[in-house]
Amino acid sequence: MMTKHDIDHDNLVSVRKEIISIARRCFSLKLQTNSGGNLSARLSCRDAIVIKPSGLGYFECSQDNLMVCDLEGQVIEGRGKPSKDLGFHCGIYQERADVNAIVHVHSPWAIGYSHLNLPFQCATVQSVGKLGSLVPCIDLAPGGKPQGEAEVRPVFANNQLKAALLRAHGTIGVGKDLISAQYIVELLEESCHAAFAASWFHNLPKLMSETQGHTEIRDCFPRLG
Ligand SMILES: [Zn+2]
Repeated sequence: MMTKHDIDHDNLVSVRKEIISIARRCFSLKLQTNSGGNLSARLSCRDAIVIKPSGLGYFECSQDNLMVCDLEGQVIEGRGKPSKDLGFHCGIYQERADVNAIVHVHSPWAIGYSHLNLPFQCATVQSVGKLGSLVPCIDLAPGGKPQGEAEVRPVFANNQLKAALLRAHGTIGVGKDLISAQYIVELLEESCHAAFAASWFHNLPKLMSETQGHTEIRDCFPRLG
């Protein structure tokens, strides 16, 4: 079993530093508030990751509180409990040698769409180019519980997949490094927001022509689902 003596200390400090920076970026963009969401990155040994602990806000990540775990989910270094989503992080790393970082957020526009429990048709040329035209939506675990490794890992076995929506929960972005994974969750959130705006503006001609007839603005919202 791997121990903390197998970890390159300089590499650990550098990966922690990058996680702290990406976590703050997520928080400042309001992709993640409160203490939810989680992110992780592989260490250079490749069989261990740095991950946010459970119950800690993105803004509060520091060199002292991030944890190190192996890909079986065993804690190698750090106090407290690793993120409760450690299982799906490990599952994705085991499945995908090309993935070195994972960012999971509860971003509101994407969550709004995810309630449809349908694949998301990307709404901008940039998101189609980077995420593909359809982003899968992963259903809840049995009993309406949050998605775990059993739900997430098989979907990310597709080695082309960079992003997924989690029904009533959030999004996952993966990449060759942390900033790539971060860009993915930002782009997906932006595309969901743009899709909502497009669906609303689609009704604008109706709004403009019927305003004289005392049509209420709320009558012009598209019916989703
Ligand atoms: Zn979550």
